[in-house]
Amino acid sequence: MIKFELRCADGHGFEGWFRDGATYGAQVAGHEVACPVCGSTDVSKALMAPRIAKGGPSPEEVRAAKAMVVEKLQEMRREIEANAEYVGPSFAEEARKIHYGETETKAIYGEASDTEAEALRDEGIEFARIPWLPPTN
Ligand SMILES: [Zn+2]
Repeated sequence: MIKFELRCADGHGFEGWFRDGATYGAQVAGHEVACPVCGSTDVSKALMAPRIAKGGPSPEEVRAAKAMVVEKLQEMRREIEANAEYVGPSFAEEARKIHYGETETKAIYGEASDTEAEALRDEGIEFARIPWLPPTN
């Protein structure tokens, strides 16, 4: 069973117990849930007071958002691995060679220190830094 804080079209607040979220949706859509004050079946879930007071996302929402970021980064990693050549710690050197036409243009990826990354940026070499996650995390 799940409890929802409900509110009718007239703004009367009341509680309703449902087997699950889907049952709630079906019963409200079928006008089976009526306001105990005015009998209106035009009801919807009321916003939870603690959520409004806190003003931020709930821990569940934060977890979901983090999971999505991790998934996106892993997706990006797979794409990079499939389309670019791994040059390891000599990324800065290789990026420079490509930039100055000393080698053929190709997509590369690898590691660079903060100092190296800064130097590349100063030279106007285009690259992106992404957090590198292990394939399974
Ligand atoms: Zn009402």
